Amino acid sequence: MIIAYKYKLKPSPSQEITMTNWLSMLRSHYNFCLRDRISAYEQVKSPKLGNYSDLKTKAPCCPLTCSISDQSQLGEPFKKAGKKRNAYEMQSSELPVLKKARPWYKTIHSTVLQQNLRRLDTAFKNFFEGRGYPKFKTRQKFKSFSYPPNQVKLKENKIYFPSLGWMRFLNSRSIPDGFNLKTVTVRSLSDGWYVSIRIENQDIPQSKLKDLEQVKTAIGCDLGIKKLLALSNGELIENPQFEKRLSKRKTIRQRRASRKRIGSSNQKRAYAELARIEQKIVNQREDHQWKIAHHLVRKADVIILEDLNIQGMIRKCRAKQDENGKFLQNGQSAKRALNRLIRDCSWGNLKLKIQSVAAKFGCICLDVNPKFTSQKCSHCGHIQKENRNKERFLCLNCGFLADADVQASVNIAIQGLKTLGISHSKLLRVTEEVTPKPEMTGSSDREISVSLEVEPGNLQQLSLFEWVNGEAIPC
Ligand SMILES: [Zn+2]
Repeated sequence: MIIAYKYKLKPSPSQEITMTNWLSMLRSHYNFCLRDRISAYEQVKSPKLGNYSDLKTKAPCCPLTCSISDQSQLGEPFKKAGKKRNAYEMQSSELPVLKKARPWYKTIHSTVLQQNLRRLDTAFKNFFEGRGYPKFKTRQKFKSFSYPPNQVKLKENKIYFPSLGWMRFLNSRSIPDGFNLKTVTVRSLSDGWYVSIRIENQDIPQSKLKDLEQVKTAIGCDLGIKKLLALSNGELIENPQFEKRLSKRKTIRQRRASRKRIGSSNQKRAYAELARIEQKIVNQREDHQWKIAHHLVRKADVIILEDLNIQGMIRKCRAKQDENGKFLQNGQSAKRALNRLIRDCSWGNLKLKIQSVAAKFGCICLDVNPKFTSQKCSHCGHIQKENRNKERFLCLNCGFLADADVQASVNIAIQGLKTLGISHSKLLRVTEEVTPKPEMTGSSDREISVSLEVEPGNLQQLSLFEWVNGEAIPC
């Protein structure tokens, strides 16, 4: 399995200047090559520079039979053996020419330049798989460069980057033995430089569930805003709302920065301060999410999540118009606050983290369609919208009473187990029995020992309570 380890770098002032210069140069190179690919495509679509010609006969021909520019106009279209190059190879063959014309590009290590082209290639690959057209990068969006495998060396608390030299780093977690070093990415964030080392570790997954018969526990998770996660064993994980906590300080810094003279160093400093607080929010959220992921993996062998359409949930409300074309209130201003809360939850990232930790420890993790999970009674299967009243679930058919989110997570768990083909009756009972997992190594040990701010199991037996004026009172 390939995992990434992140470390904070401690570059010398001269190294910092070099890396900043590199970023600036690589960004222009990226944008230049993107423009080249676009114009090459347009040339194929409607030729502006003359028609294509067959190289052997030099006769004009149709682009269908001979497309010399395979989405690139730079570089040599053919290899020595006469085989056609693809766009990456063509642009890569242009690099020596670029270095001759612009000698300052010689300071960048050649593999870094090639990786930069690979990055553009990946952007196009994503586009062909339906994930948006590559964009021109602004200075704010272009913050990293990478080295291919087998270029970077590690020695205690020092790391060697070709053309940059040895650099100290904060060795916050030790890299396990028996790893293969993969791509290494250097990234500039608001609070300094970081390196992300991708490692291929053969020992992962550390424990492997061989078949479904070994599964002892399963857990369903219902994602929410007030309660970030409601688990099918009755446990609730609250949402710390990191953005909201620091929103006051952020607003003050935003206002301060906006009032500085444009282009002044004071303004620069103020925006750097603002960026640091945004970074802090991200760091806090990520840390919390990793802890949740490890907590879940320790609880169960199968983790079942809901497959939410998050992009659809934060989409803007449609504009409302009356007969005369006048725009009416469409509730967008109220939706904006909700959207902000949804973004603060960062469910997508949380799911990714749960999936990756589950893969690491050999747990099964799957997504199910959450349709009707909050309206369906997990006891009798009765579906009715009125079953749910805010945070309370009362089945109008059989009278089953529970916390609405926990009840939804039970439904999710049942649905997921049905997909896997496991009988759910015994698995959903709250047991302490989990397939033993090996002790986690490195800093992950520390991550787990920190307890979550949640009292587990406080709502396990909610059905023994009676609801009076919206409060649960024991029967
Ligand atoms: Zn029922």
